[in-house]
Amino acid sequence: MGILVLNTGSSSLKFSFFDDQAVEVSVGGEVDWHGQDHPSELIVRLAGQPERRTPCDAHEPGDAAGLAIRTVKEALDTDRKFTAIGHRIVHGGSRFRQSARIDPSMEAELGHLAELAPLHNPPALKAIEAAEAEEPGVPQVAVFDTSFFANLPRSAAIYPTPWEWHEKFSIRRYGFHGISHAYCAGRAAEILGRDPADLRLVVCHLGNGCSASAIRGGVAIDTTMGFTPLAGLMMGTRSGDVDPGILTYLMEEHGLTADKIEDALNHASGLLGVSGVSADYRKVEEAANSGHDRARLALEIYAARIRSAIGAFAATLGGLDAVVFAAGVGENSATLRASVCDGLDFLGLRLDPARNAARPRDLDIAEDDSPARILVIHTREDLMIAREVRRLVAMA
Ligand code: AMP
Repeated sequence: MGILVLNTGSSSLKFSFFDDQAVEVSVGGEVDWHGQDHPSELIVRLAGQPERRTPCDAHEPGDAAGLAIRTVKEALDTDRKFTAIGHRIVHGGSRFRQSARIDPSMEAELGHLAELAPLHNPPALKAIEAAEAEEPGVPQVAVFDTSFFANLPRSAAIYPTPWEWHEKFSIRRYGFHGISHAYCAGRAAEILGRDPADLRLVVCHLGNGCSASAIRGGVAIDTTMGFTPLAGLMMGTRSGDVDPGILTYLMEEHGLTADKIEDALNHASGLLGVSGVSADYRKVEEAANSGHDRARLALEIYAARIRSAIGAFAATLGGLDAVVFAAGVGENSATLRASVCDGLDFLGLRLDPARNAARPRDLDIAEDDSPARILVIHTREDLMIAREVRRLVAMA
């Protein structure tokens, strides 16, 4: 019948239903629950129809998954079961290096992994349980955001800390957003009409969370994200990389607790922390355009860090064939792309201003004679998950 994809976050669950082998979503939407002050909302998108928003009473990921499943069935007007359900799981740890069918032992392992990803894995686990209750017997598949980075070279994966941290506590670079980075790498090769085996790419996934990756021959060899999704680039509310000495200084000299620091770095930093205006790139851009100094600074830091990552990864890759911009900011902000590419001629990146401004989607926006290409790719985590689910179900 078709594949249902559930992408569960800390305050929203996105759902996408794909008929049989389809590439486009036939029923999609989102359940948002923002806490007690805001009513929860169900958003439904049916192919060729305007989006429908209605209040709902889902207040946690389990409720949301059940509601999503019932909503899709209602829209499809069917009582039949789904062929399979795919879940995006943020953290696969060292144990889950590729997508896999979910069984009770995997669920138990994922429960243990919640320790490594306290903000991210527990909601997905709740969605899995709810989906099992709602659709008993339907195969469920876990697709991990870490898989694409599971085989990073040791020099990229291992932190230069005491060896026992790695051995005893599983401290290493795991990398995240891998589903998006993998999709973009494949799509970039298609757009360029090149064999992925010949390409050296830097993919910049710039949404609420942001990360860049270095991909050679279709294989990830480095990423800005680390042991947690807090590392690397500046994000909406997350700091990205900071000097670890700051944390111990704040604990020892200013009495901040680990909880407070974790909360500040995850929820009160990034664009929000620097600008004091918003975590939303558009709002920070608006404030900057009307002269807000800290908003301007926030945008400068945001772009500077992406530029540094591209430079560093070009060195890691031994050259650069293309840079990819993806996700909310990367796909939509022409000014961000222009600001990042400004001064990167020395890497062979020459942006065509008219192509950049023309709301590109899955297009090359470099000048014709630019030695390296610049691509804007509409990332499709949902499709990538559906493909993984189809592959695994076909193998079973
Ligand atoms: P995502 O997590 O991929 O949904 O991306 C969310 C981010 O994309 C938010 O910071 C939005 O402000 C940003 N975004 C969405 N549309 C635009 C746009 N037209 N221009 C600039 N940023 C945008």
